[in-house]
Amino acid sequence: MIRTVCSLAAGLSEERENVSETTSSQTLTDLSSQAESRETPQAHPGGTLHKTSHGAGMIEGIPGLQPIYEDYARCVHCGLCLNHCPTYRLWHLEADSPRGRIFQMIRVKDGEAPVNAAFVEHIDKCLDCRACETACPSGVEYGKLVEFARARIATEYKRPFLSRAARNFAYRWLLPKPERIAFFARLLRLYQKSGLQALARGTGVLKMMGLEEREALLPRIDDAFFFRRMGKTFPAIGETRARIALLGGCVAQVMFAELNEATIRVLTANGCEVTVPRQQVCCGALMAHAGDREAARAVARRNLRAFGGDEFEAVVTNAAGCGSTLKEYSHLFSPGEPEYEAATKFESRVRDVTEFLNTLGLVAPLKEFAKRVTYQDSCHLLHGQKVREAPRRLLKAVPGIEFVELPYSELCCGSAGVYNVTETEASMELLAEKMKYAAGTNAEVIVTTNPGCLLQMRAGADLHKTGQRVLHIMELLDRLTGASAQDT
Ligand code: SF4
Ligand code: SF4
Repeated sequence: MIRTVCSLAAGLSEERENVSETTSSQTLTDLSSQAESRETPQAHPGGTLHKTSHGAGMIEGIPGLQPIYEDYARCVHCGLCLNHCPTYRLWHLEADSPRGRIFQMIRVKDGEAPVNAAFVEHIDKCLDCRACETACPSGVEYGKLVEFARARIATEYKRPFLSRAARNFAYRWLLPKPERIAFFARLLRLYQKSGLQALARGTGVLKMMGLEEREALLPRIDDAFFFRRMGKTFPAIGETRARIALLGGCVAQVMFAELNEATIRVLTANGCEVTVPRQQVCCGALMAHAGDREAARAVARRNLRAFGGDEFEAVVTNAAGCGSTLKEYSHLFSPGEPEYEAATKFESRVRDVTEFLNTLGLVAPLKEFAKRVTYQDSCHLLHGQKVREAPRRLLKAVPGIEFVELPYSELCCGSAGVYNVTETEASMELLAEKMKYAAGTNAEVIVTTNPGCLLQMRAGADLHKTGQRVLHIMELLDRLTGASAQDT
């Protein structure tokens, strides 16, 4: 089982044949010299980018939003994003910077370069963290560009067999089907609880198979899955201040069931009636980020039906990565498609749980928490959804808390969806840097707002022995809220 899971992960990370150091350095040289020779900020690399619009100049076979001329044209090559880009900070390669990647996208768009292994490598190595979007003074919507580049790769580039098989398995066969997720989770739980995991780790067999780091990232499977809450409504405690629908997630149903339960307790304690719509499925974030737009559209359609009624004031999620995609559901459909209008309406109701609670206001009393606490921004909350203050305000509302900012908290921790599995080495380097700053805060607790970041930061605290506890903000608030308060 573990071999299957890890092999699939290895397949997702795929073999990149034909991409050598020479390719990278040649690209860097080309990019640097061309960037330097450009003086007028509005000039385009290559200078032959043709204006396109919805309908005209569209790439066949890719439904939904396609960037137009102006989207690329916003990049004036100023380089102000470079120091905010985790991959550029790691490798100092122009080809692995936002500006360099946009340049490559333009060349592909213009037909001046093919969708080849080198292009795929630099686009795959992007975390899609969107820190460059926040940094960019010119308003480049980089997320839109990289997701379209990945959609092009998915349709025009033939990845190696194992990679294709792993992607199809994960994005088309497993994630859209809750019963399959539950089946695999039970197998994994058996591995974790039967002693097999301890045996595999203790004997060094994982190391021999080259699976040690990936296996270490496997999260613990919950005893009770969140699927049992589907279709249920949890009444508000006291006066009903809001009626909301909660996204349960896909793997979160089996790996973060307790976090979902904690989220419900915090919301109900603060006057929310919480419904978990039965027909909901995976949000499609992993598929959309990987460029499998058809798979993302298929689950989006189901969620539009599941969350479609007007009876909920908001669709709330405790996973920033999911929220970011839900808020951009209309990107998956083209204007004129029947789902486009529904998606536009739907995304206006989506709220991250911190955003929602900060606006609603906490009314449930909080226990004192006399500890030093720091906060790691989730990229898809900060850069994807532009939510910075809400989680900080909620934390600062806790009596007794000593809040300290984490230097460079806006830089990705290396989790980035499945990046820590597909690009493990780079992910671990980013994590090491992150933990250095986290340890420097002397905080006893690190708080974050996304399950993926939570796993990554917990692995970081263990690996780097910082001795810090890592909690999702809902776990912390739950432990400090009313009757459900537990020891912290
Ligand atoms: S900051 Fe914006 S405009 Fe400047 S190079 Fe980066 S993406 Fe382009
Ligand atoms: S999304 Fe993140 S990793 Fe990718 S180019 Fe932008 S800052 Fe760099």
